[in-house]
Amino acid sequence: MADCIFCKIVAGEIPSTKVYEDEAVVAFRDVNPQAPEHILVIPKEHVACGVCEINASNAAVIGHVFEVIAKITKELGIQDFRVVSNNGEGAGQTVPHIHFHVLGGRDLSVTMG
Ligand code: AMP
Ligand code: ZN
Repeated sequence: MADCIFCKIVAGEIPSTKVYEDEAVVAFRDVNPQAPEHILVIPKEHVACGVCEINASNAAVIGHVFEVIAKITKELGIQDFRVVSNNGEGAGQTVPHIHFHVLGGRDLSVTMG
């Protein structure tokens, strides 16, 4: 999609620090990390702006995103982590290409908000 930062990352038009890539999903380090480990996992295709647009036609790639989260956290030795997806500006979403934040490397047990 034109003017989508994450589509540009997928296309290699904007640099990123990738930690994983396959035919459908890419994972890269967040440029403004909120934890020692802060990775964004996205479908390569702009299948949805956010979680509110998940449906039967795009659910398979979203399931694959979670398989990738399980794989990369194991490979990177991140045992305890949080997965977050902000949906809508009021929830803090700034990039309207569905993505899942993986946060770890520090104690996340105290607050969730
Ligand atoms: P959200 O605010 O939930 O939409 O998350 C968007 C995330 O994308 C933020 O945590 C940003 O720091 C991150 N971000 C924006 N631009 C880039 C970029 N070029 N490379 C890596 N992460 C980015
Ligand atoms: Zn996009």
